[in-house]
Amino acid sequence: MQEHMPSDRYVTTLKYDYIFCGTGASASLLLLELYRKNLLKETKVLLVDQVMKTSRDKTFCFWAEEGDPICQDLKSLISYSWDAVNLSDHSAISILPLKYNHVSSIDLYQELNKLVDQLGLQRLIATVENINKDEEGLYIIADGLKIRGKKIFDSRTPIYQPPIRGEVHLYQSFVGWMIETESEILQPHTFRFMDFEIEQQGFTQFVYVLPFTPNKALVEVTRFGAEVIKVGDAELLLKKYIAHHFGKHTVTDVEQGCIPMSNTKIAYDITPGVVTLGAKNYHIKPSTGYAFKNMYYHAKAVVASIQKGENLELLNSLHEKKFIGRFAFYDSLLLDILKNRPGQGKHIFVELLRNVEIKKILKFLDEKTNIKEDISIFYQLPWAPFLTALFHKTIRYSWFQPLILTILTIFLIVLGNKSPLQTNIANGIFFVGLISVGIPHGAVDHLLETGKWDFKKAPLFIVKYLLLFALMGMIWYFIPPLALTIFIGYSAWHFGQADGDQWQFSPLIAMLWGTSVLFYLLGTHITETNAILATMGQLSLPISCPVWAMLPWLLWAVIRKKFPLMLTVIWLMLASYIPLLYAFGLYFIGQHSLTSWQHIQAHLKLSHKHIWLHSLPFHGGAWFLMAAFYFLWPSQDMVYDYSQWGLFFIFIACISFPHVVAMHVVYKGRSNFNS
Ligand SMILES: Cc1cc2nc3c(=O)[nH]c(=O)nc-3n(C[C@H](O)[C@H](O)[C@H](O)COP(=O)(O)OP(=O)(O)OC[C@H]3O[C@@H](n4cnc5c(N)ncnc54)[C@H](O)[C@@H]3O)c2cc1C
Repeated sequence: MQEHMPSDRYVTTLKYDYIFCGTGASASLLLLELYRKNLLKETKVLLVDQVMKTSRDKTFCFWAEEGDPICQDLKSLISYSWDAVNLSDHSAISILPLKYNHVSSIDLYQELNKLVDQLGLQRLIATVENINKDEEGLYIIADGLKIRGKKIFDSRTPIYQPPIRGEVHLYQSFVGWMIETESEILQPHTFRFMDFEIEQQGFTQFVYVLPFTPNKALVEVTRFGAEVIKVGDAELLLKKYIAHHFGKHTVTDVEQGCIPMSNTKIAYDITPGVVTLGAKNYHIKPSTGYAFKNMYYHAKAVVASIQKGENLELLNSLHEKKFIGRFAFYDSLLLDILKNRPGQGKHIFVELLRNVEIKKILKFLDEKTNIKEDISIFYQLPWAPFLTALFHKTIRYSWFQPLILTILTIFLIVLGNKSPLQTNIANGIFFVGLISVGIPHGAVDHLLETGKWDFKKAPLFIVKYLLLFALMGMIWYFIPPLALTIFIGYSAWHFGQADGDQWQFSPLIAMLWGTSVLFYLLGTHITETNAILATMGQLSLPISCPVWAMLPWLLWAVIRKKFPLMLTVIWLMLASYIPLLYAFGLYFIGQHSLTSWQHIQAHLKLSHKHIWLHSLPFHGGAWFLMAAFYFLWPSQDMVYDYSQWGLFFIFIACISFPHVVAMHVVYKGRSNFNS
């Protein structure tokens, strides 16, 4: 093959019609389709990849009918097809008119190489560092060279963002051996699909067998899980499986790979005019890892759009668009199970393969079934793991929290203000909330900086924490108005930080939101607020707040289509009809602490149980400190009804001061916080 390596001068002066950043599977499929439609003639094309592909690095398998365009167009590349499947050790089941087809990656790359030679396409082995646009148009920076292109196709390997709010990022990792058996024992037209009769080792693991002759097959161990399978572990499983099923054999080739199974966002700076392809365009189906057919049909759609002169960017699957719809929802449930209850995976797949016709399963995986068919499939599956996943998913929806708070608030209103029932139930909720999340969310500050308890740094950390606590206490004692101002200031900032992160507010809007919420809660309960403030150093809030004061936020939420924010504003307005302490308690526990808890969990990457257990020493310490505080704080002013609460809030002000400082580490590190 003739290789063209443009010189610096050449590259910077010539403008290409198409630049391909990455020349793997998706780019190859698109170039082949452009060629088939005669669109590469007199077209200046540059192919940029960081490596020159010279060997088989992947095996692409897909199912389709023989007459489908994909089988027709790629006929010369399909090196093998199976028309029957073996689901367990039982007899073969025909999948006709479908066939399971095999394309070796090297055949695809060589087909592209032929085009490069035949049409004189240009190739550059370089790393594309950047794709951008200036007044002259689109360009790429590759190994320091600035190269211009009218259209740029980007299929560079995607970088997945950390999962947020119920998203899952797993791996489908596999190790395969090409084996030759001594005797002819394989049925060359029957492939073995997901054989779960291997040790699960805490994951969901199975074996594929793709026979090519009666004594030659690719046997592959695959794991769906949060950890990539180690080669040594996979080899042990392969040895055992092959010895059991095929006896004596020799290994002639090894294949190893890993495909992301993810419904998180892909990091991408959207440059107008750039078209994403392949994995970067979310073509890998999260629950299966299959992408080849999606990429082929996307290539066809891109070429059809070029022929019609349409805007190609419309073919970029944005994250939001991609993960809407029922199939995305099913994928997310399965991913949730595979991540959180991996032991259930085998049971689910075995039941699926046992009870549902294979052609229907393949149609379902192609996202071509209708709802009736979907229900008939789900009916055959074990329900419990899906219902649990559904419950987990629902509670992670951003509207769930404000919805529950709205229901609770209405419930408390219905019980009647200050009625014994309201008092008992609200106190119960408040107490359980404080123990479960209110105090614990502030009792893991010792882990935030380094992610673990550092015995060397611990004494200094505790001393600093107590000093900040004492400093705030002294200000309260000597200059209460100043203490109140500082307390309101950092509380507004801190509340705004947590809520603002959730709703992607800019820091300024977040601060405005935090301040509004605080003043709203206090101002709509002015009598109670001032009664408590009076016990905290003869303080008072000069102005009250009408219920409608939150309406501008409601309007803003409607305009910005922020449904969870709308619900939050509505429940805050309802909360002005219940006593201050319950309204504040619901906000502090149900909104602030729960939201912060999720951010802390994402920061520490620990389970809820672990975080709660880690919080225990400081949680206990907080109760002890509170008891000491009540005992030691001079009580001569505490003569009013609300004195207990006044003291409680002074304590809260003191202990939350170092917490607010510590939590800043979490928010500084969170990339989804809008600026
Ligand atoms: C081992 C394996 C087996 C698979 N088997 C199947 C299967 O059987 N069926 C199926 O449907 N799907 C399969 N997939 C999933 C999917 O089809 C493949 O991942 C496919 O290769 C994705 O195509 P792509 O073009 O997005 O990425 P790739 O084919 O990986 O191409 C990306 C290219 O970009 C280049 N690149 C990356 N960064 C840069 C940079 N900064 N500058 C320049 N070049 C860069 C890379 O070198 C690479 O050549 C498999 C995936 C793997 C990993």
